[in-house]
Amino acid sequence: MSDRFCDVALPVPLPSLFTYTVPQQMAEAVSEGSRVLVPFRRRSFVGVVVKLDTKPPIGAKVRPIARVLDLLPALPSALMQLGQWITGYYLAPPGDVYRAMLPPVTELHSRQEIRLTEKGREALAARTMSGVSTEDLEFLRETEQVESSGGTALLPKRETKKATLARLLRQGLAQLHENILGTKRRTQRVISWKSKEQIDLPPKEESIRQILEVERGPLPLPMLLRLAQVSRAVIERMLRQELLESWEEPIDPGEDPFEVGFTPPAHELSEAQEQVVREVRRQLEDAAFGVNLLFGVTGSGKTEVYLRCVQETLARGKTAIVLVPEIALTLWIGRLCRAWFGARFEGVAVLHSALSDVERAREWWRVRNGEARVVVGTRSAVFAPLDHLGLIIVDEEQEGSYKQEETPRYHGRDVAIVRAKQEQAVVLLGSATPSLESFHHARAGKYQLLTLPTRIENRPMAPVEIVDLRDDFRETQSTSPLSAALRRGIEECLRGGTQALLLLNRRGYSWFVLCRSCGASVQCANCSISLVYHKQRNRLECHYCGAGQPVPKKCPKCESAYLHYFGEGSEQLEERLRKEFPGARVGRLDRDTARTKRQYQQTLSAFASGALDILVGTQMLAKGHDFQRVTLVGVVSADSTLSLPDFRAAERSFQLLTQVAGRAGRGELPGRVLVQTFYPEHYAIRDAAQQDYEAFFERELHFRRMMSYPPFTALANIIVRDTQLENAIRWSRQLSEYFAPHEGKGVKILGPAAAPLARIKREHRFQFLLKSPKRSLLTKLLAGAMAHCESKEIPRTAVLVDMDPLSLL
Ligand code: ADP
Ligand code: ZN
Ligand code: ZN
Repeated sequence: MSDRFCDVALPVPLPSLFTYTVPQQMAEAVSEGSRVLVPFRRRSFVGVVVKLDTKPPIGAKVRPIARVLDLLPALPSALMQLGQWITGYYLAPPGDVYRAMLPPVTELHSRQEIRLTEKGREALAARTMSGVSTEDLEFLRETEQVESSGGTALLPKRETKKATLARLLRQGLAQLHENILGTKRRTQRVISWKSKEQIDLPPKEESIRQILEVERGPLPLPMLLRLAQVSRAVIERMLRQELLESWEEPIDPGEDPFEVGFTPPAHELSEAQEQVVREVRRQLEDAAFGVNLLFGVTGSGKTEVYLRCVQETLARGKTAIVLVPEIALTLWIGRLCRAWFGARFEGVAVLHSALSDVERAREWWRVRNGEARVVVGTRSAVFAPLDHLGLIIVDEEQEGSYKQEETPRYHGRDVAIVRAKQEQAVVLLGSATPSLESFHHARAGKYQLLTLPTRIENRPMAPVEIVDLRDDFRETQSTSPLSAALRRGIEECLRGGTQALLLLNRRGYSWFVLCRSCGASVQCANCSISLVYHKQRNRLECHYCGAGQPVPKKCPKCESAYLHYFGEGSEQLEERLRKEFPGARVGRLDRDTARTKRQYQQTLSAFASGALDILVGTQMLAKGHDFQRVTLVGVVSADSTLSLPDFRAAERSFQLLTQVAGRAGRGELPGRVLVQTFYPEHYAIRDAAQQDYEAFFERELHFRRMMSYPPFTALANIIVRDTQLENAIRWSRQLSEYFAPHEGKGVKILGPAAAPLARIKREHRFQFLLKSPKRSLLTKLLAGAMAHCESKEIPRTAVLVDMDPLSLL
């Protein structure tokens, strides 16, 4: 028999697939979607078989697959098909695409177990069955069988039997269970810096302080030991000296301290909610693809609708994915789902990027084995290997976090829609402020529009008042971030014993450090961006690459000593509030104070339980939380997002304002919202104050049409980058030469120009912006450009293609 060949996608930044031979004894175990270990150059890689029975390249020597990792192909055919679509649409190397879909490689920790199915047991008992070869039955009889938690498990003895096992799986006689073993511990010890004193420390202790207080924040013990290169004894000693503190934190995905004994409220649905659920139920019964946009104001009870829709899906023997925009929400929604479905149905899996590799692999295989039928997760959970997919919910569909900002640069919501289409499933996009694209599609009839126009129990929306900071400045002659009106509002809250939430979308103490002598601001050494001053850590930090430096005494450019700290960030605002309202209990929630799940939850529950009067924070505050005693929401600066050089700036500002305004007056108490701005006449701010989504939508859509932006054109952002400026320039020129003859033929090409962030992480960046009313033209041109880059030997990693970019920085 002649050799068989297959094409494998490898996690290397090359656009092509690679051909390998399939050794005889593996032939039956390899299928499309299987993970295989293959030699590549001088190393071994885990790749995915994309195509079987391909033709070998002429003349080249083809090497054999070294090992098949799975009996059951890791990626079911539906996901292989989805991967193919992503490769083509986002022009991403297939290896990167499939890697994003696969679980982390944890071979060392996993054990595959083959269990007999009902059919297998019958066949064995009856010693015969149509379609089952005697050889296989013979094999089954000879195989050692043991009782396992989930049924009868077979222990395959030799590697060579893999082919037979694969056949049994295909015939449905046996089923594969991948058990990820890993650590059995359910909690881990987390170490944090405790001492508040500024003392001189010995080098070891100082390096630990650097790691825990400055660079990383609290860390699990093993990770700290690895990073600091110290022994356990050192840590124990420092704990005794009270330089450090430690606690146990649950490591199980999604598990949290609140879970024990948690019973979710089960409300009777409102008429509006009922109508939405009824419509989704009807579509589930039809089992045909369809997209719904659930446009429901904040506090209208969307979560309840999601849960009912999942319930309807499970009741029909189908499975569901619930995508949420951030990890904190996977905890909350995951908990709700487990409480609702964990016991009655086969279980809920939680998938997000903060899980360890072992945890993620374990959850992933639980899904692949059919043990979990509801998956709650962030972006990449859209690739959850569920069979019989019935429903995908995308909560807060407008959120930017659904877009992956590294290759493959896919959008989780858009992939969800494509996946649902391929698998005949129903999509439910939910939002109080739908993205312009989605609402446009809903109005055009492409999506079904479902609405929840009022809050639960008809609680009023909190009125929004605009504070014109120019007037405030004229009156008070001060540039305090707290206007007179906001200050009065906070005082009222404190007097009345209610709570205030203050949004300031900038973390750190001062936005930047400016030299009054030469006018330069202190910049990151790696990026063309100003460093942010963090007072508590006493450093300047880059919010792009994370690099930092000690606070300078002199201007690094002109050596003058006249350094001025400009702009108040959340850290400084917290300090100011403590000073101006001495009796008030003030907390802060941003990425500096909420570095771990525990810190995040501590602050949130302190606020929720009334142990804090004022909570300051970045946009972390804006989403989802249901605080009952908040009567004042203050937006300290509505302008920080509005002023970005980006065509989505207005949309983003509108969304943020609406979201944060939605945190006020959710309980019995009425609320109010104060929005401080220097541009009170901007429509994004005016419409947000009126809480008039549709008015904003009309205006913004008009702007997009005039300027030829999405949803009226397909847009792609191409970045050419390299640490060597000459390379970046040369490659940009070569790309430009390729584009030139195509200019104007249905695609508009802008650039090359220096990117708005001209340097990031030491790389110089040039930008092309491509626009076309016809997406297929754009895709074709870009595919050609990629081929051109390859022929010019421009490294694939030097050219970033961002299809449907969310940000043009
Ligand atoms: P949204 O996600 O639309 O902002 P939520 O799902 O957070 O709104 O619901 C707001 C509040 O209303 C929650 O406290 C929720 O428990 C409650 N709620 C939801 N549905 C009902 C209902 N049918 N009856 C009473 N309360 C409800
Ligand atoms: Zn200077
Ligand atoms: Zn930087």
